[in-house]
Amino acid sequence: MTRDRKRVDGQWALGEREPLNANEQFKQAEDPLLVRERIEKTYAREGFASIPPDDLRGRFRWWGLYTQRRPGIDGGRTATLAPEELDDEYFMLRVRVDGGGLNVAQLREIAALSTEFARDTADITDRQNIQFHWIRVEDVPEIWRRLEAVGLSTTEACGDCPRVILGSPVAGVSADEVLDGTPAIREITERFIGDPSLSNLPRKFKSSVSWLPDVPFQIHDLSFLGAEHPELGPGFDLWVGGGLSTNPRLADRAGAWVPLSEVAEVWAGVAGLFRDYGYRRLRNRARLKFLVADWGVQRFREVLEQEYLGRRLADGPAPVLPASPVDHIGVHKQRDGLHYVGAAPVVGRVSGTRLAALADAAEAHGSDRLRLTPYQKVLVLDVADPEPLVRRLESLDLRVDASPWRRATMACTGLEYCKLAIVETKARAAELVAELERRLGDQRADITINLNGCPNACARTQVADIGLKGQLITGPDGSQAEGFQVHLGGALSLSQEDEAALGRKPRGVKVLADDLPDFVENLVRNYRADRADESETFT
Ligand code: SF4
Repeated sequence: MTRDRKRVDGQWALGEREPLNANEQFKQAEDPLLVRERIEKTYAREGFASIPPDDLRGRFRWWGLYTQRRPGIDGGRTATLAPEELDDEYFMLRVRVDGGGLNVAQLREIAALSTEFARDTADITDRQNIQFHWIRVEDVPEIWRRLEAVGLSTTEACGDCPRVILGSPVAGVSADEVLDGTPAIREITERFIGDPSLSNLPRKFKSSVSWLPDVPFQIHDLSFLGAEHPELGPGFDLWVGGGLSTNPRLADRAGAWVPLSEVAEVWAGVAGLFRDYGYRRLRNRARLKFLVADWGVQRFREVLEQEYLGRRLADGPAPVLPASPVDHIGVHKQRDGLHYVGAAPVVGRVSGTRLAALADAAEAHGSDRLRLTPYQKVLVLDVADPEPLVRRLESLDLRVDASPWRRATMACTGLEYCKLAIVETKARAAELVAELERRLGDQRADITINLNGCPNACARTQVADIGLKGQLITGPDGSQAEGFQVHLGGALSLSQEDEAALGRKPRGVKVLADDLPDFVENLVRNYRADRADESETFT
């Protein structure tokens, strides 16, 4: 090969197998999934100190395990301390809930594990996962045993591999849905999650399958979104190359229509293409979006068809999209005449105790199906008489009649547990919601607020009306204090005429964390005063 070495991007399909960074080295040295055996046989017996760095901060992620931040380290030291100084001896453990669906037995087990092993912590994430904190490596085998006994797992919940597959929280019950994508999610999960042929990708691989646009499909590596083909009927429109973090990019439509029965095959084709052609030199250029941007979506589709599927995909029409996404909070009728009830904790923070009470409430009111949403909320399905359940959920502070501020605010993990964080997020978001409820009441504002503890955008900084990126800024007394850079107007519009936007970053707009309620209040009051009419959006 005569390629200029400086330009080599580590693409396997071009014969480039030399590992070009530390992550590629440990992945090539051994399939990261194999670390499970060492966790069960060695580390769980010998304790935290027995874990070598490549496993601790590398391969453990393939089983949903991240070391959590040592308490008491402020955000100013995040970038200056060595990893071993930031690491606590406890882990965050992510449980994948593909499609967001849980039954009562699964929820009860999650609740029990939280109270027994995680100091009663549990967060609903914006990717339909559950996250525990304070997990000891000694307890991990028992947690896996109990999760797997109820059909849940932490396999590939983190790491450079296929992450949890998002699905509509109302799949199979919504009157607006024409085709339920759940069978495809199940097939992908059963066939490909934990498959060693896809466990070493260049970077994380986020995907969704949903008829309804109630998942953030524009920011995934791969999305299948419901679309009706004029001759072939209902199926899925293919989108590729979205992602946020420090180089945000919205996905492109590939113009291809995929029937439900072929979604898993096409999903595996795209994942394989990413494995083989994805960039493995720079970690911050390794997501699929960089390849799609360089190639263009038409070339991407051609390579997918020729090298991975061996056939052409049908051309398809664009999906018909409503003007804005729905969060499913409140009481709604299912197509079978029963109801689903959507409830909002504050920024996804629940606890094992509360989840156990939620499981009891669902069961007592005739439901065995719950759904987590990609907006850090939860639904109870199949309820015949919703009002008694609503009262019970409200008593658990899972608000069905939630304020617009509680509904519209999300926050990432932040400084409390995340080693990359610069600022606190969850507690600040809870304070912000309470303040906005007090100051602005229940008036609908249709404004979304996403708080992030660093530039990584886990709570989707760039696709909120008010996106907040944590950083240290100079306070009035000249000292460094926690604050946020403000991205405005990034909410994902869904209408085809009105293209989805990525938040603009108005030059110089930064806000001290302590001033956040004043800042948002003023912004909202000005927006309300200035908009031409009720239909004018913040974007
Ligand atoms: Fe951690 Fe940053 Fe992600 Fe928040 S956005 S969870 S602080 S990596």
